[in-house]
Amino acid sequence: MNEHPEAEITLRWSEPEASYDVIIVGGGGHGLSIAYHLATRHDITSVLVVEAGYIGGGNSGRNTTVIRANYGIPEAVRFYQHSLERYRRLEEETGRAMMHDRKGLLWMAHSEAGVRRERARAAVNQAFGAETTYLEPDEIAAACPEIDLACGGGFPEVMGASFHQGATARHDRVVWALAEGAMRRGVHVAPRTAVVGLVHDGRRIVGVETSAGRIAAGIVVSAVGGNVTMLADMAGVRLPIKTHPLQAFVTNRYQHRFDPIVASGDLGFYVSQTARGQMLLGAEIDRQPSYSRGSTHDLLASLSHRAITVLPFMRDLRVLRQWTGSCDMSPDYSPIMGDTGVDGFLITTGWGTWGFKAIPAGGEFMAQRIATGVVPELMAPFSLDRFERDRTLADRGSSGTH
Ligand SMILES: Cc1cc2nc3c(=O)[nH]c(=O)nc-3n(C[C@H](O)[C@H](O)[C@H](O)COP(=O)(O)OP(=O)(O)OC[C@H]3O[C@@H](n4cnc5c(N)ncnc54)[C@H](O)[C@@H]3O)c2cc1C
Repeated sequence: MNEHPEAEITLRWSEPEASYDVIIVGGGGHGLSIAYHLATRHDITSVLVVEAGYIGGGNSGRNTTVIRANYGIPEAVRFYQHSLERYRRLEEETGRAMMHDRKGLLWMAHSEAGVRRERARAAVNQAFGAETTYLEPDEIAAACPEIDLACGGGFPEVMGASFHQGATARHDRVVWALAEGAMRRGVHVAPRTAVVGLVHDGRRIVGVETSAGRIAAGIVVSAVGGNVTMLADMAGVRLPIKTHPLQAFVTNRYQHRFDPIVASGDLGFYVSQTARGQMLLGAEIDRQPSYSRGSTHDLLASLSHRAITVLPFMRDLRVLRQWTGSCDMSPDYSPIMGDTGVDGFLITTGWGTWGFKAIPAGGEFMAQRIATGVVPELMAPFSLDRFERDRTLADRGSSGTH
């Protein structure tokens, strides 16, 4: 699909109308992607996206933008590979630059168990369509000479790595391109409008109560990131989700080009270079569940130490900014998409620390479910009822930093 009207039109935020076919709560990447796909793939435009703050102001505007499909289980590899391939075509499809940049992702192992994990990752990726190979230490040195394979003697040495063809993209540009694509086709987007309640008709959800009043809906979709347990609770749905803070920081500009994304599963961190030349660092979630958006010195100190030990050139850089998002963590580290058991109320959640890469596929499949009533094959394993059916999808490849 390559349909983007040539004529410039002025896009305006909407004053919500009295009713819509679909109301999507949350104007992050997932909510807007659902709206975009409803409009572009199914011609459904009686759609309102309600956003409490500004679009992309949640995790979608706070992440470290890694796009990859090197997951640990077949269901996830197939899903994320589809999303990765959609990202490769999204600039052309939307007609909007997203600074999509293909990057190799080196995922290092510092232990025998880590080597087995990365070999297994490469094997399952190759079997299910993702481009991942296993590298020995001399191949890692050739791919990224900046890595100190001995880790300065401060951490166990690098014993091997998987190498995956991933990418990065500008997160705010992705969000705005999807919003614009949806709005051009008639979707309404209402920022600074919080959903404070759901309207029930027996066991069915038939609308939302917002800070701008009551709005009726055929279907309400929750795409609220880390706030999901509160919204689901309004529908009477109990979710196996805990919200944890996740922090990241960025340094000043490194004058040389640094091509790969370097991650260590054993040391629990990853590093990449932004389009501006800054070094961007991420790590594991804060252990304590909370809705805090505060940054901690502990994380800054321990993540800097790990990064400098493995990539000594970073010693000369300075930290510019540190920030935090709220991650909706599922117990099996896999997303939860689709029906909830409550008529008229669907969810997309459990995107944890890995949902940016899933924005194209997540929106496409949720839109398909809403428009046709049929759950797409690649989305089916991620249903909420997998927990009661004992069909969880434990995926240690999903975050890689826990
Ligand atoms: C520091 C950090 C680094 C990350 N790095 C990566 C990465 O490298 N790669 C990757 O794939 N993923 C990464 N992620 C995860 C990724 O950012 C998220 O999974 C993804 O952005 C989730 O998108 P979303 O649309 O579901 O949620 P969000 O972007 O959080 O959007 C939810 C929106 O809902 C709104 N909202 C909440 N409650 C209400 C309400 N009651 N009424 C109306 N609106 C409401 C919020 O204001 C928010 O804008 C990272 C996350 C963080 C925090």
